[in-house]
Amino acid sequence: MAKRFLSPTLWAGWKPFGIGETKPHHFLEIFKTIWQNKRHPLYAWRILNQGCCDGCALGTTGMRDWTMDGIHLCTIRLNLLQLNTMSAMPWQRLENDLPALSQLSSAQLRQLGRLPYPMVRRRGESGFRRVSWNDALDIIASRIRETQPERLAFYLTSRGLTNEVYYVAQKVARFLGTNNVDNAARVCHSPSSVALKQTVGVGASSVSYQDWIGTDLIVFLGSDVANNQPVSTKYLYYAKQAGTKIALVNPYREPGLMRYWVPSVPESAVMGTKLLDAFYQITVGGDIAFLNGTLKHLIEQDWVNHEFIEAHTTGWEEVAKTLAAQDWEMLERASGSTRDEMFRFAEMIHAARTGILVWSMGITQHAFGVQNVKAIVNIALSQGWLGKEHCGVVPIRGHSGVQGGAEVGAVPDLLPGGAAVNAENSARFKEIWGFDVPTTPGLRAVEMIDAAYDGNLDILYCSGGNFLEVLPDPQYVREALEKPALRVHQDIYVTSQMLIDPADTVVLLPAQTRYEQRGGGTETSTERRIIFSPTIPGPRVGEARSEWEIFQDLAARVSPEKKKQITFSNAQAIREEIGRVVPTYKGIAELRKAGDQIQYGGRVLYRDGQFKTPDGKGHFSALVPPERNLPPGKFLLATRRGKQFNSLIYAKKDAMTGTGRDSLLISPEDATSLSLSEGDRVLVKSDNGATMQCSVHIDQVQPRTVQAFWPECNVLIRRRTCDVQAGVPDYNAIIEIEPLRVPQAISVAATAAME
Ligand code: SF4
Repeated sequence: MAKRFLSPTLWAGWKPFGIGETKPHHFLEIFKTIWQNKRHPLYAWRILNQGCCDGCALGTTGMRDWTMDGIHLCTIRLNLLQLNTMSAMPWQRLENDLPALSQLSSAQLRQLGRLPYPMVRRRGESGFRRVSWNDALDIIASRIRETQPERLAFYLTSRGLTNEVYYVAQKVARFLGTNNVDNAARVCHSPSSVALKQTVGVGASSVSYQDWIGTDLIVFLGSDVANNQPVSTKYLYYAKQAGTKIALVNPYREPGLMRYWVPSVPESAVMGTKLLDAFYQITVGGDIAFLNGTLKHLIEQDWVNHEFIEAHTTGWEEVAKTLAAQDWEMLERASGSTRDEMFRFAEMIHAARTGILVWSMGITQHAFGVQNVKAIVNIALSQGWLGKEHCGVVPIRGHSGVQGGAEVGAVPDLLPGGAAVNAENSARFKEIWGFDVPTTPGLRAVEMIDAAYDGNLDILYCSGGNFLEVLPDPQYVREALEKPALRVHQDIYVTSQMLIDPADTVVLLPAQTRYEQRGGGTETSTERRIIFSPTIPGPRVGEARSEWEIFQDLAARVSPEKKKQITFSNAQAIREEIGRVVPTYKGIAELRKAGDQIQYGGRVLYRDGQFKTPDGKGHFSALVPPERNLPPGKFLLATRRGKQFNSLIYAKKDAMTGTGRDSLLISPEDATSLSLSEGDRVLVKSDNGATMQCSVHIDQVQPRTVQAFWPECNVLIRRRTCDVQAGVPDYNAIIEIEPLRVPQAISVAATAAME
């Protein structure tokens, strides 16, 4: 850990508390949280103090972690806290007030409180009616018995779901004869898992957060950790103290990464901390070209680690040959950067003896997301930045459940432990589980919606999530959700997708939070740490149940004669089975109380120079940069996040940029060419035919690119465009911008009226 002392050279400025700056107001948030949790203050305190955070995937035990001394707490967690402590909603409104509920925003629906009882709504009924658990599960079970397994699909979000829930859910899906089971990682980091498995063998971060502190260089690519993993800024504060340089490769100069006020570090809370040392601006989707150009410089200058490449990698010659054939003109055009800038970045890499490359959805949410990640791995391999401390690759996750969800098997093409779905592996799991396991890969999350739209799905079972707000083209998603005969929504509160009219039947099942679940649960953090979160004593809501119990009860009702094969007596029994069938999770059964954890693979992966690929080598990838020929007058739109946790929006304004949710971030050059001023209203027209009105915010984005807030701008995103290998949607669009001029007569009348 770095020594703590005053470092005025690292201060963000000389204004105490950044007065007048656009920045988050952490202390205000704390007071707001106390107020929101006033009904159950002791319970809220116990969750904070003993639970593992259900926000992003940095991972905590209580308000501590394994990286630094001192408090680990952020506003994301504080905002989520209310969802864990709120009381039951007035459920009668689901029976007799559905039209009014349908008019509420998702935030207003959440504010109603927890879903307390199972509810059912049939086609033509004006509202839901309360039913018993027996009736609800019998309805679902009889439907499952009537349908073919390939017409049934399970989707699991990462709303605090534990590894235990993911494991039982995927086992139940397979017990029922389908591999149609997927989780929320599909729409964020699935390209990272695919690319890392193919190149280095493990679809996870190769180092620990503690390696950030004291490394020579941290590079963020398409990632805004200040917004999405806020406590990582505290790691960066300590890293800066230890002399680490920080660079950002991105289409936008993210304000939160330039400087940050870390609330629990007095020096930073008062004076702020300058984080960024270098910024490399590229176009949306220009990462491969920029990284290829950088690697080309590294090769030309002989700034690569030959010894490491020779001993531990394969594919180097082909990469070198491919890059030699790529001319600078094309690399500049495709990256939106310059040869000089790529050289500046190559110099920075060369100057660093150790380095860590961190990325997020700016890299993954493209039709070529897997290729993007491989371009990052190329840089790491060229420097030998794998297998040792302070060096590595980090796909930083925004959801506490997504790392573990996939690893314990809640994906359609892999069984627990990452074994591919095929005849051989399915036969192996048949031996373990005692029932037939389907041998062909199932539907991925986006494909479930496509299958529903095409009439190929009879039952869609969602644990949490809200497809309506997460996937591109909400109208298409709505139409798709209207088609399956049965939709099941298992959740802790009401969401807008639950209120879509049933084709035949919609069943709502009230779930418990991770803090309420019997026997506790575990999550896996970005740094591969499996962390135990205990059951927290406190009030319980209505008839809400542990999700793993719901899944296994349902399976037992579908096939009572095989009940034994799918029933766990308690959460500990689930952990014991996970420990047996997922090799990297060996030891999970020993986790029994708050603070218990194991980190599979240890602090650093590949220490022995052996990668987990079949040949033990790190695989370079020869990559051709995608080029988008943007017609004149068109722009590339990328999505961004504000004050939100995934699709849960917490404020109308983004604290980092000071902009509203309908803002369109545009460069000064483009604003001038379109004669636009700050705050002007524009009509954004997507090449998918949809339009959206936005408010102009002029900022440091790459010319010819713009940014809008997700999920509101999902309407502009083309459906059915995904990365082929990973199935993540391409959350980008080609758009036009049309100024909405207020007619002069109206404008004059409006002014007169105001006077
Ligand atoms: S940074 Fe992530 S893990 Fe840490 S408290 Fe915030 S949401 Fe939780």
